[in-house]
Amino acid sequence: MSEKTVRTRYAPSPTGFMHVGNLRTALYEYLTAKSQGGKFILRIEDTDRERYVDGAVDIIYNTLSQAGLKHDEGPDIGGDFGPYVQSERKDMYLPYAMKLIEDGKAYRCFCSKERLEQLRESEEFAAGGYDRKCRDLSEEEIQKLLDAGTPYVIRQKMPIDGETSFTDSVFGTITVDNKELQDQILIKEDGYPTYNFANVIDDHTMGITHVVRGCEYLSSTPKYNLLYEAFGWEIPTYIHLPLIMGKDAEGTVSKLSKRHGSTGFEDLVKEGYLPEAIINYIALLGWCPKDNQEIFTIEELEKAFFIGGISKSPSIFDYDKLAWFNSEYIKNMELEKFAELCAPYFEQAGCGNLDKVKLASILQKRVSKLTEIPEMVEFFANIPDYDIELFVNKKSKTTLENAPVILGNVTEALRALESWDSETIHDCFMKLAEKYELKNGTVMWPARIAVSGKTVTPGGAVEILDILGRDESLKRLEAGLAKLG
Ligand code: GLU
Repeated sequence: MSEKTVRTRYAPSPTGFMHVGNLRTALYEYLTAKSQGGKFILRIEDTDRERYVDGAVDIIYNTLSQAGLKHDEGPDIGGDFGPYVQSERKDMYLPYAMKLIEDGKAYRCFCSKERLEQLRESEEFAAGGYDRKCRDLSEEEIQKLLDAGTPYVIRQKMPIDGETSFTDSVFGTITVDNKELQDQILIKEDGYPTYNFANVIDDHTMGITHVVRGCEYLSSTPKYNLLYEAFGWEIPTYIHLPLIMGKDAEGTVSKLSKRHGSTGFEDLVKEGYLPEAIINYIALLGWCPKDNQEIFTIEELEKAFFIGGISKSPSIFDYDKLAWFNSEYIKNMELEKFAELCAPYFEQAGCGNLDKVKLASILQKRVSKLTEIPEMVEFFANIPDYDIELFVNKKSKTTLENAPVILGNVTEALRALESWDSETIHDCFMKLAEKYELKNGTVMWPARIAVSGKTVTPGGAVEILDILGRDESLKRLEAGLAKLG
């Protein structure tokens, strides 16, 4: 027997920025499909007009594309199961609800808002719910109300006793007492479906085989399953994902929110994390590979991913770990590409006129977030007003006595150079060290301080001199000499 093609869907509601939790859902949907040769579908769930945010759909497209999660069907590229935007499907749902009414699995509820509000005043329905008043109306009563044009909603007829069970791929068997289940609304007064109804119809009609979503949907799943059963449809495989938590400075763990740091994909990118690193980190946030591999390209994830590796315990979003992934991606990137990424940050630091590739080369091993760059390189644009004590360094054996002499010799030798490149500058230092019988560090330290005004710099004296160029370097060296008196 041939296996059914795995089809997963990412079904975001365009309500604003893309939370890393949503991105992880999208990624696991994608990987669930791709690891099994399946299709990944994008469906925009935009029926909740109150929460709709202009521009949010673009954020979804941009994020998926930056993250490398290419969908096989969706609003922008079409497919055989469209439309892929829920608001364009709005006329599809009512006939399904009418079918349930015909089969005695749903009913029209004519209760007014006022009546439902009154219900809330009683203890039993204080937290919401419905007393099923319209569930057993007679045909005549229903007809009379319809003839009078009484507005109604359509509710699902839940079983009154017994239990409903299902097995989630991550959380195992979940059982609920049917009496806990409300006769939920499927179609609202305006004829449009509720989310709880639409998602079942959409998933079934789009041939979705695996539903991957956040664990906040676990408690609604029995209701969805009763709908599948009412229609006689096959229930999809459920993969509910664990919560993503954050840890604050005191070590208290709570649901990941703004107070822990950026939680939106775009904000993380703005903060200097690379999309590939974010995706790699998020892949491991709730899923564990069979070996201890940590660095994965998206193609490698597609091969390595398996549903059994998803954990049900909450995962903690660790910004330090993300920064580590980011630094690994930066280190392994082609220098030219890294230089391009650095360009706006060089500009920001006033270093836009310097050689991007050379500047990038001294940063590549030291940067964990791109936003650290301006502070690291701003001394190239403006040398800080530094203290002459910086010339004193125990390890390099420099003192306030020998520094002026060494710096004087270095400046003179560098001024005499015919060409200005890192090799020539390096040789010049080596020759001086040899000539004066000093350690390399001893001849280099005063120059590094004089050209940077800092004890910690990306790159050493040679690289900095090379990048600054002859004129600026000599100017700074002379200023350093003047400082030393
Ligand atoms: N539109 C829902 C959301 O963004 C989708 C939930 C689901 O995956 O079914 O939360």
